Amino acid sequence: QIVTRFAPSPTGYLHVGGARTALFNWLYARGRGGRFLLRIEDTDRARSTPEATEALLKGLQWLGLDWDAEPVSQFEGRDRHAEVARAMLDNGAAYRCYSTPQEIAEWRESHPRQPFPSPWRDADAADRPADAPYAIRLRAPREGETVIDDQVQGEVRFANDQLDDMVLLRSDGTPVYMLAVVVDDHDMGVTHVIRGDDHLTNAARQVQVFDAMGWQRPVFAHIPLIHGEDGKKLSKRHGAVGLHEFAALGYPAVAMRNYLARLGWSHGDDELFSDAQAREWFDLSGIGRAPARLDFKKLEHVSGWHIGQMDDAALLDEIRAFLAETNQPDLNEVQTSRLEPALSVLKEKAKTLPALLDQGRFALIDRPVDIEDKAAKALDTVSRGMLKSLTAALQHASWSRDDLEEAAKTVAEENGVGLRKVAAPVRAALAGRSSTPSVFDMMLALGRDETLARLNDQLV
Ligand code: GLU
Repeated sequence: QIVTRFAPSPTGYLHVGGARTALFNWLYARGRGGRFLLRIEDTDRARSTPEATEALLKGLQWLGLDWDAEPVSQFEGRDRHAEVARAMLDNGAAYRCYSTPQEIAEWRESHPRQPFPSPWRDADAADRPADAPYAIRLRAPREGETVIDDQVQGEVRFANDQLDDMVLLRSDGTPVYMLAVVVDDHDMGVTHVIRGDDHLTNAARQVQVFDAMGWQRPVFAHIPLIHGEDGKKLSKRHGAVGLHEFAALGYPAVAMRNYLARLGWSHGDDELFSDAQAREWFDLSGIGRAPARLDFKKLEHVSGWHIGQMDDAALLDEIRAFLAETNQPDLNEVQTSRLEPALSVLKEKAKTLPALLDQGRFALIDRPVDIEDKAAKALDTVSRGMLKSLTAALQHASWSRDDLEEAAKTVAEENGVGLRKVAAPVRAALAGRSSTPSVFDMMLALGRDETLARLNDQLV
């Protein structure tokens, strides 16, 4: 069975790059009947607050990535990690190193960028100092290469004489991060490690530990990091980097999943797809080696497509989630009943949820409608005259689109003007602004009573 994992370090929020890594692991597992696990790499105690972990989980939940089993705390596993270091000592894969930090620092000073060769690697047990503190170091291969067969990067080779015997357990008894990762991945049964390529060098160290323990290495796929539109590594300078920021900009989660999936992975020319398609198509061979660029134009396009695809109930749920996410009041009953009939029209054009709500504002406001200056110009004397005729005609109209259009056309003809001239004051009266869906769509959504009331408000 395929087992993948997402192993974030708590930084206070879920970075969009981390979200993409999580998504790839999730898609890979879910598309193959596998398991997707979560491990919080919380060994940095200062940063690892419960709030920081909570923020990560919240980000994943928002994105709709569910995980199997309880999240693993790396810090909680420290005894187990130390135990493995001791086991390696026992089987000769590791040794006690009594070199002091000062000795190591001095050696480094005189041998810049060279791996530290511990004099204790081949020392006789009899020469060991009695009660001196020691670190446990891996007895790494001295010759040859450590080779990683990476699913994205290909065969990556590291000359062993460039890798030092890494410390597994510090002299204070605490395990190092690199050991913890390997032990956790092994114990969690992880079969595939999909993560950022900033961990590629770590992988060399990690496979040395897998090999030393005689554990099967997982399959590695190191994915290129995400860059900004300018090709530089993504940072706050580029705008939104936290997933919560994207949520607050009003991109639905399903669109984020689609967009993030395409960030570094491709399936032919397919840009727009459903979750089911992504799960079916996702494969490591589709991950490219060039860094993906975060492109807000594309994201808007993907977002608009998904909004257009959603059925009304799902869209309403998304809108509600967005309002909650941005601390805005939920839709009340009246607003919902007016917005719902307009959704099919609104979702055709909107690229984001706030854009949809902006176009749908006429359904959310109450009388008296505030008229913006620009719209007020459409309410001059002549226009009000037409508005009056239309209001009279509408009293008796059945509230069908045909009838509404017929009534407006008749008024236009009577006044020798185009339909737009009649629509303008109606638009102003119903929405108080000049950019709205069509006046007939608004009338249909608002219903007879509310429409006539808003029109009449402008006649007195
Ligand atoms: N905790 C690491 C990070 O947040 C990921 C380690 C891993 O995936 O092995 O970058």
